[in-house]
Amino acid sequence: MHLRYSYRIYPTAGQRALLARTFGCARVVHNDALAVRKEARKAGRPYPGSADLQKLVITGAKKTAERAWLASVGVDPLIQSLRDLDTAYRNFFDSVSGKRQGRPVGLPRFKSKRDARQTLRYTRNGFRIRGNGKLNLAKIGDVRVKWSRALPADPSSATVILDPAGRYHVSFVVDVEPEHLPEVDAEVGIDLGLTTYAVLSDGRVIDNPRFLRKAEKKLKAAQRELSRKTKGSKNRAKARIKVAKAHAKVADTRMDWLHKQTTRIIRETQAVYLEDLNVRGLARGRLAKSVHDAGWSTFRRLLEEKAARYGRAVGIVHRAFPSSQLCSECGHRDGPKPLAIREWACGACGVLHDRDLNAARNILAAGQADRLNAPGGPARPGVAIPRQARPVERGTHLGDPPRTGIRATGAGGIPVR
Ligand SMILES: [Zn+2]
Repeated sequence: MHLRYSYRIYPTAGQRALLARTFGCARVVHNDALAVRKEARKAGRPYPGSADLQKLVITGAKKTAERAWLASVGVDPLIQSLRDLDTAYRNFFDSVSGKRQGRPVGLPRFKSKRDARQTLRYTRNGFRIRGNGKLNLAKIGDVRVKWSRALPADPSSATVILDPAGRYHVSFVVDVEPEHLPEVDAEVGIDLGLTTYAVLSDGRVIDNPRFLRKAEKKLKAAQRELSRKTKGSKNRAKARIKVAKAHAKVADTRMDWLHKQTTRIIRETQAVYLEDLNVRGLARGRLAKSVHDAGWSTFRRLLEEKAARYGRAVGIVHRAFPSSQLCSECGHRDGPKPLAIREWACGACGVLHDRDLNAARNILAAGQADRLNAPGGPARPGVAIPRQARPVERGTHLGDPPRTGIRATGAGGIPVR
């Protein structure tokens, strides 16, 4: 399975200048190739293949007066820029045809010097990690790296990133063997909330991180300062960097916190069940800010990645599942409840429920039913697995083939994925 490992890097002033030039060349190659493809489309001609395109916008272009400077930088990131454009097109077509799930992917667009994030991707031909721990980039030189954690294996690619806060990072892709943890019995359902971050079916509560609010206050102050500066002034440029730095701080703090939470959950439980919340739908509405803060989709992605790596399972219960309406004790469906209602008593058995805890328990039960009924599901002593095969999509591994978009019907008419 492929994992990403990111580190801060500290290029010298000279290296930063070389990187800036390489960012520019990779951007021009991307834009030229995109223009060629767009023109071909307009003229009704077939798209030029990768090899022809490479000849046209890199090898051939270097020989022309207008693009001769392409020869002054390493060729590897230029070729990768074309590959990435190919991938962007493939993702777009797969998204249109429904082969790719998730949020719709748009057509590739032209890149600008003013884009907040600049990236360069190198393959094994373009970078090396020296014995002294420096990262050697072709035609750039040996760059200092802050190795915040060890790389588990030789990386297959390295992406150099310049973020809006002016910081440089390298993100390696590493192919690692999953390291399955010893099995444990615990399984949990998780209800993602708004008053608290999440409630687990075993009664544990994960609170919203208050320190994020603090980092955000700083961000807001920086934004106010920026809005008061005259356009085009030096002070405005300075204030803009301050805002970007505050943004980066919020993002880093949130990511760090999410990593800690998800690692703990995956270590302690064999299977985790979540609701397939329509985060995008919610984020457009009035709850936008808190949903965005909560980073639910990142939370889920991290759980899935870590489960694949450590031999755990993540089950997603369809969002139509009425987790907050059912009584987790007797199964009575008590009807919808406004968000303001935090506690309710079951109309059938009279048990008093905490709204979120009850929902988490329901999610656990629904997820377990789906998982046990799945063909090839976990055979546990004493649990009979029904024989009829159902077309259940399996696997959350990163390397799995793209999902087909077929949704199977799970226990109780709840679609599973
Ligand atoms: Zn009840």
